[in-house]
Amino acid sequence: MAMQTRPARRTSETDDALGPKARAGLFAGDRELWSLLQRDRRRHNQTLNFIASENYASPAVLEALASHLNVKYAEGYPRARYYQGVEVVDDIETLAIERAKQLFGAEHANVQPHSGSTANMAAYYALLSLGDTILGMDLSHGGHLTHGSSASFSGQQFQFVSYHVTPGDETIDYDEVAQMAKEHRPKMIVAGASAYPRTIDFARFREIADSVGALFMADIAHIAGLVAAGVHPSPLPHADVVTTTTHKSLRGPRGGLILCRAAHARAIDRAVFPMLQGGPILGAVAARAVCFREAMQPDFKAYSEQVVKNARALAEGLVRGGLPLLSGGTDNHLLVVKLLDREYTGAQLATALERAGIITSKSTVPGETRSPRQTSGVRFGTPAMTTRGATVEQMRRVAELIVAVAEAPDNDAHLEEVRAEVRGIAESLEQI
Ligand SMILES: *Cc1c(COP(=O)(O)O)cnc(C)c1O
Repeated sequence: MAMQTRPARRTSETDDALGPKARAGLFAGDRELWSLLQRDRRRHNQTLNFIASENYASPAVLEALASHLNVKYAEGYPRARYYQGVEVVDDIETLAIERAKQLFGAEHANVQPHSGSTANMAAYYALLSLGDTILGMDLSHGGHLTHGSSASFSGQQFQFVSYHVTPGDETIDYDEVAQMAKEHRPKMIVAGASAYPRTIDFARFREIADSVGALFMADIAHIAGLVAAGVHPSPLPHADVVTTTTHKSLRGPRGGLILCRAAHARAIDRAVFPMLQGGPILGAVAARAVCFREAMQPDFKAYSEQVVKNARALAEGLVRGGLPLLSGGTDNHLLVVKLLDREYTGAQLATALERAGIITSKSTVPGETRSPRQTSGVRFGTPAMTTRGATVEQMRRVAELIVAVAEAPDNDAHLEEVRAEVRGIAESLEQI
């Protein structure tokens, strides 16, 4: 193979035949990076990915993401740009906006936020003043860093107060939310979570917000796909503003999305650009358009229903095997194993599971006694494995394997045995 000193240009020829050989050819001068890419693809294909926030986007999404649109600067919004040469990307962004509005039933959509965190920052900046009081979910009870953690801009620039799950069934304590709203008079109440396995009652949040004249924001970063498919109730009828990522259960490109009422449209758009970001990443905007259309198809609804069935099967298997779960189970795509009474930590179990080919993330839990690096929980989600075609029967078997690992996380020989079976399952699924 000829050594190249410049990166290979993607021509229409290579674009048309971008099989493994053509792809390898593009990296002919960079075997180092190419082999790393191959190694990570192999890692995915030989393991089971239960990271609740990850998913495998379609080839069409990835093609749009990686397209020539990467070149374009288009600060501003369709028909109001600071650059020339934007007539086509204006149509692309307009298409993404219209599809987002249609998919979620929103009055306005901003498809430019580079991430979920940026989307949240823009929503706060648009609708609040620095230092305002916000009521959000406690991080170790399932909330997100951007819902008031002192390590995040959110906790440093706004006055966050946190609500919790009940000690009993570990569902959101709506009575506490109502009581804290009365006591603290927040300007905004935020619903939404990264590690909450139950259905969220957005209508109830709206009622509580109205009772104290607060704005209501729903952050559906994790459940956006379920909401789009009608598998989780939508916050759109209730919330002033809805933020999300597009890469988790929604299965699109990495990125953020803000939906809001028309009255907030201008403030939201100005907070994203020019307040927080420069030009949009137009390949990612086009990839959002692809993903929104995919999410409108009947097979996405079937997929999302299977995500929930798979999560339930996994949860039931873990409970049967004696592992306690946050809130005892799941209504959505994720579940959290609680290890408060074990001598090993969430980090240790997640590491043992990884040795066995089961990829997860550690998670803090209510009543947490360990540091965020150690934790007393492990979170599992089924969107990624469901995309690869995993079935309820496979989830039941995987639950048994997880239970076996949790019984002896230090037994290397046993982890090797589990890994062999896990690899067999992984290689029987769709390959990425
Ligand atoms: C993942 C997540 C985010 C942030 O998304 P990033 O794209 O990682 O910045 C925000 N809110 C919630 C609830 C999330 O789960």
